[in-house]
Amino acid sequence: MTDAPLAWLADNASARQSAGLRRTLRARQPHEVLIDLASNDYLGLTRHPAVVAAGVDALRVWGAGSTASRLVVGSTALHASFEAALAEFIGCQAALVFSSGYLANLGAVTALIGDGDLIVSDALSHASLVDACRLSRARVVVTPHRDVASVDTALAAGQWRRALVVTDSVFSADGDLAPLGELHRVVRRHGAVLLIDDAHATGVVGPGGRGAVAAAGLTDKPDVVITTTLSKSLGSQGGAVLGSRALIAHLVDTARAFIFDTGLTPVAVATAAAALELVVADPALAQRARDNATRLHELAAAAGFETTVPAAAVVSVVIGQPEAALASADLMAAHGLRVGCFRPPSVPAGTSRLRLTARADLTDAEMALVGTGLRAVAAAIG
Ligand code: PMP
Repeated sequence: MTDAPLAWLADNASARQSAGLRRTLRARQPHEVLIDLASNDYLGLTRHPAVVAAGVDALRVWGAGSTASRLVVGSTALHASFEAALAEFIGCQAALVFSSGYLANLGAVTALIGDGDLIVSDALSHASLVDACRLSRARVVVTPHRDVASVDTALAAGQWRRALVVTDSVFSADGDLAPLGELHRVVRRHGAVLLIDDAHATGVVGPGGRGAVAAAGLTDKPDVVITTTLSKSLGSQGGAVLGSRALIAHLVDTARAFIFDTGLTPVAVATAAAALELVVADPALAQRARDNATRLHELAAAAGFETTVPAAAVVSVVIGQPEAALASADLMAAHGLRVGCFRPPSVPAGTSRLRLTARADLTDAEMALVGTGLRAVAAAIG
């Protein structure tokens, strides 16, 4: 049989089925009738008229794609001005966009570290950082979540040429914050570099949404590298690395995820740039997203769930087993609420959960419905 070598796929699928870990691609309609508490459109900007108009203009001028690597076909003024604006907003010398946040992490980590080097990574670092670590060929030490003493021990042990400590600032599943100030003190003492993935903090955390690295006062440190995404608060697609001019020049020369990847489409750049202008113009947007996250957390706590005070816009409601989490998400949907449902491997076994994201534009009526939905889930799971 020609398909015999892949016959194991069916066995694997049924094992995932029995464990409640099958994923299905649900049809998505352009105008979702459920209230969105699942997306990462934290500031509600993805359909903002100014953002859409900027995308349409860029589409007319540049067409649908960027046609090749920026090193081959050249770099548009849109890319240059957006990179300058993003760097200025976050407080770094320079920025370089990638076609996703995932690739920004792959590009930055593998350009900075390699064979014979050491990476120390938080146990809950995002999958794109985990993959970047694997791809780097460096020795990787995974330290317990938010455990600065273990990072110190890992850096102190053994010989290394270069060392990179990688962490999310706001962790994507739990929504908690890395101890960035303490981490930086340890990293600096050892002469290592700290790479911080600010994807869930850009636009939400820090002064006017400048991110968690800005809030920690670390954006201009020579030993700090920031990565982020354009696909969450900025409502677009793409990712970016930020740091010194020397760092960005190094990435242009050596980051394979930049060199060998078609440049980020001008439509994505233009829409991210328009969203960034809105964020700059209205510093209260970030605060509204954070306030709404606090309200979601209070509603979950009032319904009897143990949730931590959110550092950004992510509120995690742990249910336990994957089947129960799926049923809870369905119950929320029956109440008109679309929430995220995170199961392994996105989260550790036994911690399947509902993931609620706050948007800056959630209304009081929508909040009241969230309270009703969460109380129904609490009653259903006993
Ligand atoms: N880092 C973190 C912390 C993320 O949550 C994500 C997206 N889920 C990424 C990076 C990847 O960003 P993108 O979706 O732009 O590839």
